[in-house]
Amino acid sequence: MKESRTIGILGGGQLAKMLCDSGKKMGHKTLILDPNPDSCGQLSSFNHIVAQYDDKKELKKLAEATDVITYEFENVPNEIIDYLKENNGNVPQGKRPLYLSQHRIREKEAVNKIGVKTAKFQKIENFEDLEKGIKEMGFPCILKTCSGGYDGKGQWKITEEEDLKQVDIKFGIEYILEKMVYFDKEVSCLVVRGINGDIVSFPVGENIHKNGILNKTIVPARVTKEISKKIEELSKNIIEGLDIYGPLGIEYFIKGDEIFFNEMAPRPHNSAHYTMDACNYSQFDIHLMGILGEKLPEIKLLKSVVMLNIMGEDREKVEKLKQEDNSKVHIYGKTEWKKDRKMGHINYCGENIEELIVKANSF
Ligand code: AMP
Repeated sequence: MKESRTIGILGGGQLAKMLCDSGKKMGHKTLILDPNPDSCGQLSSFNHIVAQYDDKKELKKLAEATDVITYEFENVPNEIIDYLKENNGNVPQGKRPLYLSQHRIREKEAVNKIGVKTAKFQKIENFEDLEKGIKEMGFPCILKTCSGGYDGKGQWKITEEEDLKQVDIKFGIEYILEKMVYFDKEVSCLVVRGINGDIVSFPVGENIHKNGILNKTIVPARVTKEISKKIEELSKNIIEGLDIYGPLGIEYFIKGDEIFFNEMAPRPHNSAHYTMDACNYSQFDIHLMGILGEKLPEIKLLKSVVMLNIMGEDREKVEKLKQEDNSKVHIYGKTEWKKDRKMGHINYCGENIEELIVKANSF
């Protein structure tokens, strides 16, 4: 019989909510900390603290009340982890995964160092750097903020001289200029390294974006078995090579048989929500088992699946939606249905991937 633990989570969004659901299923208590008094994580957590992330008194309470602490977003300030540790908080993932993934150049240099390929990139600090970078790299390129960008925000595609004139950015923060990769597919792989050293990978998902936001994940990804296997192996090598513990969602571009690392996040990943209904264990189960030091089981894909994100603009469609045996609807319970906000997802499970894609497209 496994012992019941209390798990602290920094952040109270949908990822925290699904971690709490998983924890509950395994007999654990959860305590989330989030500044938002209406955070959706509260719907599933055993208890919650409403506080700013730098509220020392409340962080101390979190450290005292929990057996282990994790995070559901990568922009947790590193000092918070130090403070929790100084106050006997147990944060087994530490701050390294945050430090690396909070900065696009830092994470790309780190993976290059262990032999993983990325698109060509350069650091950009002013307009002269940008002009020089484009001259060296050639069109088309993509300019991104090094930190804080998400869902395609803070990015500019530069395909010709004319686009350069439109780039209206205030330098003062760091940017990265990347060579555009004309990829065949975008895929991702979620890996977890438990604190006992076990590493497991989930099946590779093929990602389709709409307006820079993940729309669908198709599993198995429509790539060759060799590429899939290579990506799972590569992802395990990355998590071990970078000495990261906990979950890591890694995004890649595939061009022919070339694999380019794009970015990573040390938390559950939207593109692995399919695991909730199509695998023997979900990404949330394995995240918790990993940080609790349990032996990690082999992951099995039980059926094909297409995960479709439900956005704020889909509210009317959701009201008409009927839950079927093979399509599982997950609603996060966020209070405001806003355009481009992730409100839930549907996992369409079955045998024939092309039929599942048609079904998801008819949502
Ligand atoms: P990111 O925030 O880096 O994941 O970028 C958002 C999306 O922009 C990606 O999912 C790709 O579709 C596209 N993108 C980003 N970087 C590149 C690149 N170097 N080459 C081609 N497409 C890119």
